[in-house]
Amino acid sequence: MDEAQIKKDLVDMLGKDKVLIKDLDLMYYSYDSSFFTKLEPKNPMAVVLPKSTEDVQKVMRYAYDNQINIIPRGAGTGETGGCIAVSGGIVLDLSSWDDIVEIDAANMQVIVRPGIIHAKLNEKLAEYNLFFPPDPGSSQMCTIGGMVANNASGLRAVKYGCTEQYVLGLEVVLPNGDVIITGGMKSKAIKNVSGLNLTKLMVGSEGVLGIITRIRLRCWPKPKARGIAMAVFDNLDDAPATVLEVYREGVLPSGIEILDSSAIQAVNQFKPEINLPDAEAILLFEVDGNPPGVEYEGNIIKEVAGRRARQVEWATDPKRMAQLWEGRSVTAAAAARVRPDGSRVFAGEDISVPLSKVADALRAIRALGEKHGVQVVNYGHIGDGNVHTAPVINPENPEEVERVKQLVDDIHLLAIEMEGSTTGEHGVGVVRRPYAEKEHGLAVKYMKGIKQVFDPRGIMNPDKLF
Ligand SMILES: Cc1cc2nc3c(=O)[nH]c(=O)nc-3n(C[C@H](O)[C@H](O)[C@H](O)COP(=O)(O)OP(=O)(O)OC[C@H]3O[C@@H](n4cnc5c(N)ncnc54)[C@H](O)[C@@H]3O)c2cc1C
Repeated sequence: MDEAQIKKDLVDMLGKDKVLIKDLDLMYYSYDSSFFTKLEPKNPMAVVLPKSTEDVQKVMRYAYDNQINIIPRGAGTGETGGCIAVSGGIVLDLSSWDDIVEIDAANMQVIVRPGIIHAKLNEKLAEYNLFFPPDPGSSQMCTIGGMVANNASGLRAVKYGCTEQYVLGLEVVLPNGDVIITGGMKSKAIKNVSGLNLTKLMVGSEGVLGIITRIRLRCWPKPKARGIAMAVFDNLDDAPATVLEVYREGVLPSGIEILDSSAIQAVNQFKPEINLPDAEAILLFEVDGNPPGVEYEGNIIKEVAGRRARQVEWATDPKRMAQLWEGRSVTAAAAARVRPDGSRVFAGEDISVPLSKVADALRAIRALGEKHGVQVVNYGHIGDGNVHTAPVINPENPEEVERVKQLVDDIHLLAIEMEGSTTGEHGVGVVRRPYAEKEHGLAVKYMKGIKQVFDPRGIMNPDKLF
């Protein structure tokens, strides 16, 4: 169908305020936060900014009838090209549809539209002494719709799990315009084992099955106290060993982060005043809960970490906690500055491996960096084996770009070899598609079968996932 006609039809259907068709506007939608889109940006044909389920339904029916691709988008903070119209089509930008429909504090849940920003939701929930625990580094930018679609997590997943644990029900507009409610049409229940679990199916489906237009989330009581411990190690293997020993003592921290020597050097170079101790690894533990419990668990961590660490500090004073955590909070920015002519690329950045293999994975990634001549900075959510790798290159140099592509391929394969996953939290999108068969085998055939049921015409976010 003629593009000019499609643009005209969209404007006629929704009004010009909800449709973007100018090249300059469309260019913004050719990127997300991935390195992939820096190399291969792709403008969509048009962008629609829906404000209601009916708006979404109209676009979906039109696209279905005319065989046009639809690509949902939240804030575009994804690292995998997931919200990009790689094979052309209409982007549905849900970021401005951001109402909190209802905070039902009595039933410990909240109902929102997809565009609400994670940090804003938690600010509002805090007024009710509640919170939505998953805590991505992109909290100030990413949408809850994007988090559900990517099953996002982050620093606190070790104790609180990923987004999926909190999604009680969804409204989803399917490619043919049907609207389904998962988790019970009228349900406000927290427990519900009725029917096939379509909620779980939709969470993490990366927009390939339908558009998530309403989200019912479980909330938790906000903990009253926090504490931070920092432990400094001269031997890399002592860091994961300490994590295991802390678990064995019956303590489950709300966050356990690692900075290896490459990250420690990057932080000290970026902000010398932070002055992290020179070491093979630093672990940061966050504990939350009620004040006596936090103190008790902090003391256990101090004692356990002290068996192997050169230095351990435990703090509950907010100023000192912020100082201890500062190194971790600037790591991503610091990684980007390790080379004056370089920048960090988001590729191969979030593999996950079994806890028992974290030290081996970090060593192997360093060796791969040397093999391909690419500087890498390593850190991550060690509590659940999620390793963050920041390759730093000059992206204007084609030869370096080629080398980083090979490095990243090796890192993904390493994850599978080590009984891990190519992605612990950022998802598959376009960039991890080549590993689908290797990672999932025959299961991919059945994933494709499920997609066929929801999207028989193949218009929903095509060329993603598998
Ligand atoms: C600095 C930084 C730090 C980050 N830290 C973390 C982290 O700690 N943990 C983590 O998990 N991720 C992290 N991310 C990745 C990213 O922020 C998350 O994946 C986030 O959930 C994406 O949300 P978004 O609104 O930006 O979605 P987008 O990037 O716009 O879209 C992501 C995917 O979701 C689909 N989608 C979006 N909205 C909908 C909808 N309403 N219905 C159906 N499909 C939809 C898109 O098609 C796409 O496939 C980080 C990113 C950055 C830039």
